[in-house]
Amino acid sequence: MKVCLWDTRRSNVQKDFAGGMGVGMPQKSGSLRANFIRRMYLRDYRPTALNFAYLVAILKQLGHSVCYSLDAIVPADVYIFNPALLTLDDEMTTIQKIVESSPESKILVVGQVAFGMTEQISAAFAGANVVVVRGEPEQLLHRLDEVLATTENTIDVGVVADLDTLPMPDWSLFRYKDFRIMYDFWRFPTALIQQSRGCTFKCNYCPYIMIESKTRFRNPELVAAEMQHGIDRYGFESFKFRDPLFGLNRKKALELAEKIGGLSKRIQFSIETRVDIMKAETLEALRKVGLTSITIGIETPDEVTLKKYDRVAIKDDRQREFIATCRQLGIRTVAGFMVGFPNDTQQSIFEVLNYARKVNPTFANFNIVTPYPGTQFYNEVKDQIADFDHSKYSVYQPVLKYKNLTSRQVQKLHSACFSKFYFRSRYFQENGRLLWPQLNRFLPGISTAKETKAA
Ligand code: SF4
Repeated sequence: MKVCLWDTRRSNVQKDFAGGMGVGMPQKSGSLRANFIRRMYLRDYRPTALNFAYLVAILKQLGHSVCYSLDAIVPADVYIFNPALLTLDDEMTTIQKIVESSPESKILVVGQVAFGMTEQISAAFAGANVVVVRGEPEQLLHRLDEVLATTENTIDVGVVADLDTLPMPDWSLFRYKDFRIMYDFWRFPTALIQQSRGCTFKCNYCPYIMIESKTRFRNPELVAAEMQHGIDRYGFESFKFRDPLFGLNRKKALELAEKIGGLSKRIQFSIETRVDIMKAETLEALRKVGLTSITIGIETPDEVTLKKYDRVAIKDDRQREFIATCRQLGIRTVAGFMVGFPNDTQQSIFEVLNYARKVNPTFANFNIVTPYPGTQFYNEVKDQIADFDHSKYSVYQPVLKYKNLTSRQVQKLHSACFSKFYFRSRYFQENGRLLWPQLNRFLPGISTAKETKAA
């Protein structure tokens, strides 16, 4: 059987981000500074979604022929779509074309958007050979026949009970040599990888927890073996861990650090975590074996807002200390902030900006609050959504109705956050050595990755 994984990169979409809902890129604006920052983002060529790399491996293991198609429709028996929210309308149009031109082909729609928008997608293709697969797409390893046999428009497949049973992701069909994420690394190409899945927290706007709110871990030995395979087979020089809570199980994180230290080649890697679960000793152990960057969500310093959306707040001094410790260790920090809550004012947005300037991470990503279908937040603010044009759901465009601001004002304040964060002398003073690690050779104080290994 020939299976086509259909994909698009239109609108500069990064499908793996925002819990699989996908993000876009900052908007062009009238400001030279904001456009400069946008150009920095556009230098990346982010890896294809990890679930597609798993699907290539799984489908091959099941004995099928697999192809990957960017934007074009090629003949196939089965098509698999993994839409992001901002490409959903485009992908629905493509699905419709396939339904009309090859009604006998089966079309599977997988991923987080498919899960959050099951009703809309299945209703649009009622009676056609289209199935919304609810759950983790990697479940096709065990349930492909059942999914292909169903005459329903939706099927629940659940999650992979044992992540260690999955084959290694297969990147061979993608432009993997070009994969690069420049805010995390300076050596490429970059692969995506996971040590765990799921999150035990309950932030009500978060799509990660729609499918499951437990955490499943992989055997660190298998994770390291996948990294070694990535080095040998694809020449990967850096690995971005896509776990939302790396380090939740400290023992496994330290075990993994030890295994990474034993790889045949020194690599760079980045993680995403919460400040309150990452201890300094874990940070140091990871740093020694190549950790270059940590993504953390700060969102807003306003504890009342955090509480309102069920996010467990972290004390201000803890966040500041964490970023300072990372800076000291030579680890970049990429902090996410949220602006454009329904009750936001100019002052509350500037408070987020001022806090970002105070903690001064290596990169600050200001996201405009976006309601993701399937989340509790979406249901709460449904009546306050101003724009249902999903092509704007990039986290860089306002789509809500605001109590105290217009959409245009939110957009302008958002753009101002980026410019006022980056264009400051203190930003460069404190982050210069992390931005240009080559400088470390000439300046004392921070040991470079190479020096640490030699020590
Ligand atoms: S900590 Fe909150 S935002 Fe982060 S993955 Fe978990 S639920 Fe989502």
